[in-house]
Amino acid sequence: MRHLLKPIFDRVTIKELEPDRIRRSGLVVPEGSREDPPQHGIVLAVGPGLDWWDAASVKMPVNPGDHVVFPASAGSWVDVDEERLLVCRVGELLGVLEEIGICPYCGGSGGAGSLSGTECPVCGREQARTEP
Ligand SMILES: [Zn+2]
Repeated sequence: MRHLLKPIFDRVTIKELEPDRIRRSGLVVPEGSREDPPQHGIVLAVGPGLDWWDAASVKMPVNPGDHVVFPASAGSWVDVDEERLLVCRVGELLGVLEEIGICPYCGGSGGAGSLSGTECPVCGREQARTEP
């Protein structure tokens, strides 16, 4: 029987992505840094949050299935059904890795404003040429 490690309070359960898989998806793990690079994982389960969250309109910022990045020092690792799982507080996560749909910086038109003629630093699109 498989188990679900159900996180409590503001904790989340994360399954580590294997480095192979990360490389195959095109993400590069920096080499040669002295500290362990941030780790990648998929959220398996999220806790219900803390008791004051409702009053402050705070919601769990990640959902099962999200691809998240976390520091190597985050949380605690446990073995469940021969899988290596991380349990950490949601505040320890560094962020959610998403593919860029509509770019939040340039809106999809490429480099904007002072960045004209360059690539957008967020999505990498080049600015569309506009006729004078
Ligand atoms: Zn952009």
